[in-house]
Amino acid sequence: MTSSDDPHPGQPGPAVSTAVDGTVLAIDVGGTTIKGEITAPDGTVTAAATVATPRGAAALDAVTDLGETLLSRLGDRARREVARAAVLLPGIVDAERGVAVLSANIGWRDVIIGGRWRDRWRVPTLLDHDTTVAGWAEWRYGAGAGTDTVCVVTIGTGVAAVLAVNRRLVRGSRGQAGEIGHVAVRPDGIACHCGNVGCVETVASAGAIAHAYTRRTGRRVDGAADVLGVLDHDPDARAVRDDAVEALADGLSGVIHAVCPQSIVLSGGLSEAGDAVCTPLQAALRRKLFVVAAPDVVAGAFGARAGLVGARELARAGSRDGPS
Ligand SMILES: [Zn+2]
Repeated sequence: MTSSDDPHPGQPGPAVSTAVDGTVLAIDVGGTTIKGEITAPDGTVTAAATVATPRGAAALDAVTDLGETLLSRLGDRARREVARAAVLLPGIVDAERGVAVLSANIGWRDVIIGGRWRDRWRVPTLLDHDTTVAGWAEWRYGAGAGTDTVCVVTIGTGVAAVLAVNRRLVRGSRGQAGEIGHVAVRPDGIACHCGNVGCVETVASAGAIAHAYTRRTGRRVDGAADVLGVLDHDPDARAVRDDAVEALADGLSGVIHAVCPQSIVLSGGLSEAGDAVCTPLQAALRRKLFVVAAPDVVAGAFGARAGLVGARELARAGSRDGPS
């Protein structure tokens, strides 16, 4: 940890806002694995590794070790050409102060990142929030590239959106824009962990889809992919998928009326289901919208790699606020 008198301990200084064309180190910390990659300026991945995510603050030490491992695979000259790193964390992240505020899933709270990665790796290092950066990457470089107003919906453990309006990323007051997973859409539905009832997340998250299928059929599945993989011949799987799509459409209705996006991009692991989710969601929106045009619904370009791609692009760009 660095001393607390550094006003921006997680950030390397003013140079951070400018783009670099050098080699970058990208690390994405997930609940199950931590993925890391070093990418050369021409896009070649020169080192890559994945490790299991330890519980608690030890996960942040594992990030340090993974970065060192990857950097050590480069020759001396290539090592000197690493211009910047970016690390994405789940949960609540205070990027400005350099604090990993909370990950209920992995189990840390208020850990000061400070200069730990910058000092160990000897590379300026950015810290940011995983879902936000993954959504930003889909908008700027993926399935939303070229659109001015877009809503990137990440469906995984939860459901959350990253919103760009007129070529600007919407942060909202307190940085809390995009929590569409907690729009209540089923008044008689399932209790949500947030304290409300019938949130989008209780019907349409990956876990909710798996649970709904097991409740309906008595058959256990490993995850939502198992349900979406049998749509062709299993009417129960289709019914669960349809419920999830209806809840997503209801949850998106408000944001579509408010900002009129050109497209909805589905991101995260579930986006790999592609048309199996995009096509019925597009149809549901067409049915439910009367005043505003139904946006196109498209699968993300990066799938489960959106976080890692986002970390790479963030490290190159230096900021999510640059001109689009
Ligand atoms: Zn909720």
